[in-house]
Amino acid sequence: MQNETIAALSTALGESAIAIVRLSGPQSRRWADCLFRGRRPLAETEPRFMSHGRLVDERGEPFDEVLAVWFAPGRSYTGEEMAEIHCHGGNMAARLCLERLHALGARPAKAGEFTQRAFLSGRIDLAQAEAILATIRARSEAGLKAAQKSLAGDLSRRAATLREKILDLSALVEAGLDYPDEELPPLTGPELVEELRSLSGEAHLLFDRCRTGLLLSQGIAVALVGKPNVGKSSLLNALLARPRALVTAVAGTTRDVLEAPLSHRGVPLHLLDTAGLRVPLDEVEALGIDRTMEALERADLALLVLDGSAPLDDDDRRAASRLVGRPHLTLVNKSDLPHRVGDDEARALSPSLGVLRLSAREGEGIEALKETVVDTVVGSGLLDEALNASASQLEELRLARSALDEARRLVREGLGEDVAAANLTEARSALDRLLFLDGDDALAERIFSRFCVGK
Ligand code: GDP
Repeated sequence: MQNETIAALSTALGESAIAIVRLSGPQSRRWADCLFRGRRPLAETEPRFMSHGRLVDERGEPFDEVLAVWFAPGRSYTGEEMAEIHCHGGNMAARLCLERLHALGARPAKAGEFTQRAFLSGRIDLAQAEAILATIRARSEAGLKAAQKSLAGDLSRRAATLREKILDLSALVEAGLDYPDEELPPLTGPELVEELRSLSGEAHLLFDRCRTGLLLSQGIAVALVGKPNVGKSSLLNALLARPRALVTAVAGTTRDVLEAPLSHRGVPLHLLDTAGLRVPLDEVEALGIDRTMEALERADLALLVLDGSAPLDDDDRRAASRLVGRPHLTLVNKSDLPHRVGDDEARALSPSLGVLRLSAREGEGIEALKETVVDTVVGSGLLDEALNASASQLEELRLARSALDEARRLVREGLGEDVAAANLTEARSALDRLLFLDGDDALAERIFSRFCVGK
């Protein structure tokens, strides 16, 4: 328990209906009562019940009409005694209220300190703290729901269960290694492979669910690429259902990368319209092509756009060659005109994840494209399963997953259980870090410092 009582404004500054000032710590109720005048002092009211009253300044003069409430230790956000004063919004009332509280001795709260106290009092773990941050920052409905699942402890629980299972298996493997003569329950090779297969399956699923969660909070970056004049800008406009990019019949109009946000089925997409890929005619075009390559680096998925009304040429082949090794879909545009590019030809041009025919001008095939993009990146069926995770938590899951895969491979190939044991330890350490079990204070500080003051 912390001794100091902290206070901060928990709502955004500026004109609004109400502004909430929060206190946490042993003096919360007492200090709130120093300026709150209701029918009864908060100290005499039931916790969690709002009281109506006024706030008074040091001379006893009222300066706002408010609602106030207090929470008992163990039954509040931070786990400590807390009080909240719901002032009128705007800049003055909450500021005067806070100034009075600070004069009484309440320390201004640091960014994320309320949540940090919830963590220190054991009400939440660090994975849940990340989920609170993700809830505040969510930019899509699906991202918000994923954050709520992690907040409910889904990620921590599942990772902890997987960790326990790994620990159990490690114990069995290591007992067999340390006491080979003891005739301990001998885990045969095939049995071990089977156990590892099941653990790795769980790690893969957890990784996929968290990866989806991360995509939902960060959005999916989709780059539109292709040679000039195939209809990339028209496609961007069709996807957005509004004219965002300049469309002209002059090749090489888009010189810079245009970014535009879009949401499909609650999934945020960042569309990146790029300069056409061809042998550049001038320096500006060459710079535009550099930017295209940067956009490709950032993209989760690329869309290779082809003009279906003209035979494929070297510029198409050149553009396709830039996509080797990158996940992409091939789009045969201008399907409203006579077809000059066959499906097989489009497929042969580049090893993409699929070929779609559409017309950006007529808006044909646009909905199907959005659907395919989301399904390709998120994976169908995973959207409702998403769990919120930070990029570093996802990285730990990736490590755990590959260590388990490696252990399974080694045992299957008869390369020794001692190496498998080392891999199991590696997988467990990754989950320890994900669950913040190694008590890394610097890491905890880093998480809370990303919060706003008052949370
Ligand atoms: P970009 O250079 O790849 O961005 O291509 P634009 O979007 O600027 O389009 C180049 C030309 O193709 C313009 O004249 C568009 O009107 C035309 N265009 C784009 N999409 C279609 C389509 O689906 N059908 C037809 N008929 N023309 C299209």
